[in-house]
Formats: sequence, C-alpha cells, structure tokens
Amino acid sequence: MLTAAETKPNTASLPSKGMLIDGKWVDSASGGRITVENPAKRKPIGEVPRANAADVDRAVAAASKAYAQWRRVVPRERGKALLKIAEALQARTEDIARTIALETGNALRTQARGEANMTADIFRYFGGLASELKGETLPLGEHVLSYTRREPLGVVGAIIPWNAPVMLAALKIAPALCAGNVMVMKAAEDAPLGVLLMAEICQEFLPPGVLNVLTGYGEECGGPLANHPGVAKLSFTGSTEVGKVIMRAAAERIVPVSLELGGKSPSIVYPDADEDWAVDGIIAAMRFTRQSQSCTAGSRLFLHEDIFDSFLSKLEKKTTALKLGDPLDEATDIGTIINNKQFTKVCKYVDEGLKRSDAKLVFGGLPPKTGPLSEGYFAIPTVFADRSNDWRLAREEIFGPVLVAIRWSDEAEAIRMANDSHYGLAAYVWTHDIGAGLKTAHAIESGWVQVNQGLGQVPGMSYGGFKQSGIGREFSLEGMLDSFTQRKSVTVNLEVRRT
Ligand code: ADP
Repeated sequence: MLTAAETKPNTASLPSKGMLIDGKWVDSASGGRITVENPAKRKPIGEVPRANAADVDRAVAAASKAYAQWRRVVPRERGKALLKIAEALQARTEDIARTIALETGNALRTQARGEANMTADIFRYFGGLASELKGETLPLGEHVLSYTRREPLGVVGAIIPWNAPVMLAALKIAPALCAGNVMVMKAAEDAPLGVLLMAEICQEFLPPGVLNVLTGYGEECGGPLANHPGVAKLSFTGSTEVGKVIMRAAAERIVPVSLELGGKSPSIVYPDADEDWAVDGIIAAMRFTRQSQSCTAGSRLFLHEDIFDSFLSKLEKKTTALKLGDPLDEATDIGTIINNKQFTKVCKYVDEGLKRSDAKLVFGGLPPKTGPLSEGYFAIPTVFADRSNDWRLAREEIFGPVLVAIRWSDEAEAIRMANDSHYGLAAYVWTHDIGAGLKTAHAIESGWVQVNQGLGQVPGMSYGGFKQSGIGREFSLEGMLDSFTQRKSVTVNLEVRRT
C-alpha cells in the first residue's frame, strides 16, 4: 500500500509550484506538464512543467538581465550568499534526501542522505573560495603593468542527469555563481523535484534571474538551451551519446563546454587482496547500493587467477546480504532503477548473459516477477564470469548492477585490458603492495584512480574523464577557475607623460 506521503505530493517538501525563471515559480509557456514517478512503486508522485524553446528564451533573457548586476557583486559577497545557501540546505537535508529517494529510487539511508549532505557541503566549499578568483601580474619591467583578471563567462547553460540529481546540480550552480556567472539549468525529466526544492532554497539568497531552473525533456528543452545564442558556456553531465550532441552545439557557436560523461571503470585486484576489506571496497566501487547507476561504477572486475573463485564467493556472500527494498525504508540498502526504459535495458543485458553458454552466472539474475519487489524497478546485483573483456557486457555502460569478472595472470595484460575501453573516467586498484598499486594507477588511462578504496568524489578534487568520458574538470577550485571563468590580460604602459 502507498502511504499518504507517496500518493500526493507533499507541497511542503515537493515543490509543485512550477519551475524557476527570474525568481518566480512559473508554468511552461505551452502549459504542458511532465509526470514524475516513484520508481519503487511505479506510481506518479507529482508533476512539473514541460518546458520548451519559448521557456528557454524567457530563462536566458532573465539570466542575461541578472548578469549585469551579479558579475559586479564583490566575489566575497557572492561567496557569503553561497555560504548562507549551504546552511539553509543543511537545515533541510532530510526533506531533500526524502525527495531524492522518492523520485530516484535511491535508498534513503545508503544514498540519498549522503547526497543531501554533500549538496550542502558543495555550497560551503565553493562559498569559501570566492576570494580565490585571483589574477596574476606579469614581470614585464618597471615601465609596464600587465595583469590578468578571472572574469565570468556569462549565462551558463547546464544540463544534468537523474542519478545524483541534486548533488550534480549543486556542482554546477555553486562554482558557476561563485565565479560571477548566471545560470539556466535543465533538470532531468525523471528527477526534477529535488533540484526544484534545492533551487527554492537557493532563491531565498539570490537576486532574481541569477539561477533559473527549467524542467523539460532532452530534445525539447535541453536542445534549445544548448543551441541558444545567449548562452556563453555549456556544462553537461550525462551520457557520452548526448555529450556529443552538446559538444556539436558548442562547436557551432564556439562556446566553451565541460562534459562529464559515461564510464566502464576497471577494478584490478592483486592476489594479495583476497580479503574482506577489498570485497567491501569492490561493492562500494561498483556502487551496488546505488543500483550501479553511477558513471564511476567499477563494472569490470579484473581478478588475479589465483584468487578468482575465492574472491567471487566472498563477493557473493556479502553482496547477497544487502537488502533490496523500499528506498524510504531505513533497513533498505539497495533501491530501484530509475525508470522503465533503464530497467528494460538492464534486464536485456542480464538476459544476454544468462543465454551465453560461455559466460557463467556467479550470482544474481533477472528481477523477480512476483512479490513486493516486482512492484518497482528492482534489479538484482548480478555477476558474470569467464568471458573476456571484448564481450559487449564488458564494453558498454550498462548503468545497472551487472558486474563482469575477468581473469588475469600477467600485470601488463591486466593494465592493457583495463585501458582497452573508449571510456576513462574512474579506476580502482587493490593490493597491499603500494609500489605496484601506484605504478598501475599511473598506467591506467582514467581521470580518477583510487587505490584500496572505492569512495565517492569529495569537494576539492578535480574530477573528470579521459577519452570519451569527458572534457574539463569540475568539483575543485581549479575546476571552477578553468570551467567557469575566462582570463583577460590587461597591459598598461606606465610611461605615458603629459606633453
Ligand atoms: P541518461 O541516459 O542518464 O538519462 P542522458 O544523457 O540521456 O543520460 O540525459 C542527461 C540529460 O541530458 C537529461 O537532462 C536529458 O534530458 C538531457 N538530454 C537528453 N537528450 C538531449 C539532447 N538531445 N539535447 C540536450 N539535452 C538532452
């Protein structure tokens, strides 16, 4: 049975006011709406406006108007606004977390609360960095003063996905605004409610138009945003496929673009790491408690042949002990896949694995067709073994809890296989031999390698991908400077005299 909170949107915590343009909560120009679903029950939980090109025009116009003032606000004052937002978000973390859990299917205890806390932390981190928007002076001689300024770019068009919607929104809003830009963000159609709630909190501390948040579909709203002539910078997080579309739009107008895209990240386990801590680490790296809907999921497990079977049996024991269930239940470890499209896609990969006589199912399989879990998009953690790194399941980003275990005996071969991917986002190395671990970490073609841990990003690290996993870095001071400012050089001749 659905609880009352799930059947009708709670207006205190689930904004149904509309989307944010110019400081106001508005409907779409067309009047169209998008229904948001609770993926654990396959039931609607609310509606948001269905924005299109006309709404993008309105939002970009509002942002452009606000830019003239916002860019002139002293950076530390902008930082103070972000710090106030951080505190207000911190006070509302439980509301935000519950909204995230309800609309994404991510479990409240294992995921959504962490995301809500991280969101406040991101604003806190960038709020403190406002005075780091420093320039340089060039030593060109006594007769000349040459210095650089870090200037904002203008209207940033941001497009985000649904897998960690609120945190990913914060990661664009906080650095962009800190640096003096204004923003038009498009939330993901499957998970807009948490982002709207966050925007509502932000809006209390921002002038109208500095932050605008649209809700709409990819091509219908994201497309016009990416192509809008008033947008001076594009910041996108999502699939590699759509990333290419965004990059083409950026190329048309020569605007800078940051892309955080997909991954098929390797985990290399050395024979000395056949221990419980490494198994726990693999479960964390695979993001099983996020249904592996993460671009950093360590979804290719390269196990040394000497420990192949024993490691997998430990992994089975620990993973199958995790509890799938209602994301809002405190006892739940693993929630649901976001929607029917993704669920069907994940099931197809599992089905392919089950049908291959040359692949061994270690544990998991297709979702149950009856019982409470069949009410939602629950996918079971699944591990296949005995196929090579060339298999489709080892090459394509599944974005679901399907792990492929591959044997290795020679270290160089393990590294070659790890690098044999068009992705290069994250990687994990597991060994007591720190020298070997670091050499391997350095040889791996990924933007982020963790040795002996499988944790999430922390503010301050420059996060981003190699190869088709992306361009540019966000999450850090350097990321803010590189992605959300442009350098201007000013050179002054000091020897001009009145004649
Ligand atoms: P996912 O597979 O995780 O949904 P997508 O890359 O499809 O990832 O979506 C990420 C974001 O990009 C979403 O907000 C989506 O609406 C948006 N999007 C999808 N297609 C387009 C497009 N053609 N132009 C602009 N934005 C798009």
